[in-house]
Amino acid sequence: MFKRVEKKYIAFLVLIIFVMGILYLYFINQRTNIMKVAFLDVGQGDSIFIQAPNGAQMLVDGGRGSRVISALGKVMPFGDRSIDVVIGTHPDADHIGGLVDVFNMYEVDNFIEPGATSKSKIYKTLEGKIEEKKIPHILGRAGMKIYLDKESNVYFDILYPDVVDVSRWETNDASIVGKLVYGNTSIMLTADSPTNKENYLIYKNSKILDVDILKLGHHGSRTSSSVQFLKATSPQLAIISAGLNNSYGHPHKEVLDNIGNLDIPYMATYDKGTIVCQSNAVKIICK
Ligand SMILES: [Zn+2]
Repeated sequence: MFKRVEKKYIAFLVLIIFVMGILYLYFINQRTNIMKVAFLDVGQGDSIFIQAPNGAQMLVDGGRGSRVISALGKVMPFGDRSIDVVIGTHPDADHIGGLVDVFNMYEVDNFIEPGATSKSKIYKTLEGKIEEKKIPHILGRAGMKIYLDKESNVYFDILYPDVVDVSRWETNDASIVGKLVYGNTSIMLTADSPTNKENYLIYKNSKILDVDILKLGHHGSRTSSSVQFLKATSPQLAIISAGLNNSYGHPHKEVLDNIGNLDIPYMATYDKGTIVCQSNAVKIICK
């Protein structure tokens, strides 16, 4: 039926399709067992992008200004213009400042916040943007588990706040603290939570505080990361999200001494730029 040349051509085509199929399955499998967590280089502030094995995404804070947008562009899949969940841990400008641009650039399905308020202009602008875009938002409270990927058991376990109303609280005190879990691996995100809240968490949850990675509270300020909390979380790696030569002197020497004394290595965004960690549910590696 087919000429000899045509047969060769068809065989070649079949081979190509077969190889492409194998490559496709390979990359799909790559995608399906890796959780990516990127501590974005946003200068003096926090912004952490998480992508579960199923592709679901969460952004915890947006730094200050619009740096988050270019940082996200480098870690998100090409052309991706949506994020499933955004958390604003507390209403300080170095955490929520960039979220206005995030809401302008990305379709966001849910917004989670502690309910602490601020008189700042950026807070009012963000409130207006959430209203304008009609983004469903809820108050994050201890006991909530945000499942990003049920099949792979990837979730963000909110540990704090555990009270109903924090609207009049000092903003750092109201910080949403949570533990991101994938299989046997976990990362503690403490926003700018101060040592008295760390102590409270030890008192309340000491058994579940142990993690692989701890993002040091408040950009490595001496107001967070007590020795007790470092011991309770016992991270293999600490991450510091802070700007180079920032005016607060973050990270403070006392904190670097504390982690040094406990032999906890650290990586900092002011030194490495965006730090990308990958977990396969057994082990996390950060670069
Ligand atoms: Zn901060």
